[in-house]
Amino acid sequence: MYETRDSIADVWGDRTPYYGDWQERIDERTIAQPEQWVQSACVLCSNGCGLDIGVKDGLIVGVRGRGVDRVNRGRLGPKGLHGWIANDSRERLTKPLIRRNGQLQEAGWDEAMELIVQRSQEIQKHYTSGAIGFYTSGQLFLEEYYTLGVLGKAGLGTPHMDGNTRLCTATAAAALKATFGSDGQPGSYTDLDTTEAILHFGHNIASQQTMLWTRILDRRAGSNPPKLVVIDPRKTYTAKEADVHLALKVGTNIPVMNGLLNLLIQAGQINPRYIEAHTVGFETLKQTVRQWTPQRVEQVANVPAKNLQAAAEILGSARSLVSTVLQGVYQSMQATAAACQVNNLHLIRGLIGKSGSGILQMNGQPTAQNTRECGADGDLPGFRNWDNPKHIEELARLWNVDPMLIPHWSPPTHAMQIWRYAEQGSIKLLWISATNPAVSLPELTRIRKILQKEDLFMIVQDAFMTETAELADVVLPAAIWGEKTGCFTNVDRTVHISHKAIKPPVWLPHRYLSHDRKFRNSHSGY
Ligand code: SF4
Repeated sequence: MYETRDSIADVWGDRTPYYGDWQERIDERTIAQPEQWVQSACVLCSNGCGLDIGVKDGLIVGVRGRGVDRVNRGRLGPKGLHGWIANDSRERLTKPLIRRNGQLQEAGWDEAMELIVQRSQEIQKHYTSGAIGFYTSGQLFLEEYYTLGVLGKAGLGTPHMDGNTRLCTATAAAALKATFGSDGQPGSYTDLDTTEAILHFGHNIASQQTMLWTRILDRRAGSNPPKLVVIDPRKTYTAKEADVHLALKVGTNIPVMNGLLNLLIQAGQINPRYIEAHTVGFETLKQTVRQWTPQRVEQVANVPAKNLQAAAEILGSARSLVSTVLQGVYQSMQATAAACQVNNLHLIRGLIGKSGSGILQMNGQPTAQNTRECGADGDLPGFRNWDNPKHIEELARLWNVDPMLIPHWSPPTHAMQIWRYAEQGSIKLLWISATNPAVSLPELTRIRKILQKEDLFMIVQDAFMTETAELADVVLPAAIWGEKTGCFTNVDRTVHISHKAIKPPVWLPHRYLSHDRKFRNSHSGY
C-alpha cells in the first residue's frame, strides 16, 4: 500500500502557506500499482475535489489528487482517499430482483424492465401520469438527473418528482431564490485566495469539507491572512481556529444575524450606492434589525455583546468577504430567513460579484446541485421556474412537447406530499433512486407502512440492498461513481467530468473474496 499521509490521523495534511495562488500538493492512496489513471472527481462532499482513479485488473486500487484542478490543487481528504473501497464491496447488488409470491427473486434485465413498462402503462392508462411519482437523491450525475427530469416532466407530465435534497439543503435553493430571484450559487473558491474575511455560519467546514478548510488554513498560515468569524453553538475544529466565535444558543440564528446587520447599519459600514442600484427593501431591513441591540442579542442568544461587536467589526470593515452556510442554519429555526440574512450582509456591504467576495450556500455533495439544476426535484431544468409562462413555453419548444404537458398548473409536489399521496393511494407507482427513505425520512413507522402498501408498485434503483430495497417490487442494481461517465457541478459552479474507470460489478463467485485480502496478499510487496 502507498499513501502520502495517513489521512485518518492527519486529516488536513501539511500547510502550504499562500496568498493569491494556492500551490499544488498531490495526495495519493493506493493499495496496488495502477495500470492506468482515469480522470474523475470526488462526490463525497460539496467541495468536489478533482482526482484520478487508479485501475488495475478491472478494479479500483486507489486515487490521487489532480494537481491541475482549481478546486483542490491535488489535495484529498480522508473520505476521498478511502471512499472508493465501497465500489468493490461484497454487498453490491449485481442482478435485478423481482418480487414473486412475496419474495424478492433474481431476474433478468429484460424481465425486470418489461414488468416496469407493463405496470407503468397500466397505471398511466387507468389513473393518468399523476399516479406516478419519483423520489430521487443527491447522488446521481447531471446527465442522469436531466434524463429523469425530461422523462418525468416532458414524457409522463407528472408533477410528483422530488429529491431527498428537499430534506437536506433545500434551504440553500430557497434562500438563493428569495434573495437573487433564482437558484444557482454566486460564489467561487477562488475568492478565498485573496479575501480579507471569512464567515462560517452553522458550518463546521473543518470536518465537513476538509480540503476547503485546508485552503483556508493555508491562507491563514500565509501573508495577509483572512480574519475568521464562526457562528456555531459548538466548539468545533472550525470554531477553535476562529478570531471570533459566536457560540449562540441553539435556535437563535436570526437574532444573532439581525444583531450583526444592525451594528453594521448603525456604524455606517454599508455601501449605499450598491444598495440603491441593486437592492430593494433596505429600509424594511433596517427597521427590522434596529431592535436587535447587542444587549438584546446577548439576552436572547447568550452571545456576549462584546463578542457580537468584535464580529461586526471584522464583517463591517473587511474590504472583501466570503461567507459559507450549512446545516447549522438549514436544519434550525427560520432556516431560509437566516440564510437570507447572510445574503443580505453581502448585499448591504456590496461584497458580491467581485474578486475576493462571495457566498457559498453549501450542499451535501457536488451532485446535489445537479438535482436542482437539471429539474429532478420541484424545479425545471436550467433553474427555470414552473410559475413563469415564458420558461414553460421555452422548455416546451426545446423538448418539442405541448406546454400543457409540462406540469406547471400548481407548485411542484414536495417530497413529504409525495409520501402523503402514496399513503392515500393516489400515487400508485413510486420510483426511488439512490436513497433509503426507510431509514432516512422522519416518521419512519409511517413511511415504512407506506413502503409496504399492497397498492403501491415500488421500483428501487440502488447499488446496495438497503432497507428500502428490501420492500420493493422491483430492484435494479445501479452503477455508481467510477463505473459510469457523467458530470457534476460543485457549490462554486465548477463542472467536473467523471469518466468510467471500471465496469459495474457482475455476479461472479470469486468477487466475493475479501477485497482487502485479495490485494493485501497479491500486492504485499508494493
Ligand atoms: S474534501 Fe470533500 S470532495 Fe474533497 S476529498 Fe474530501 S470528501 Fe471528497
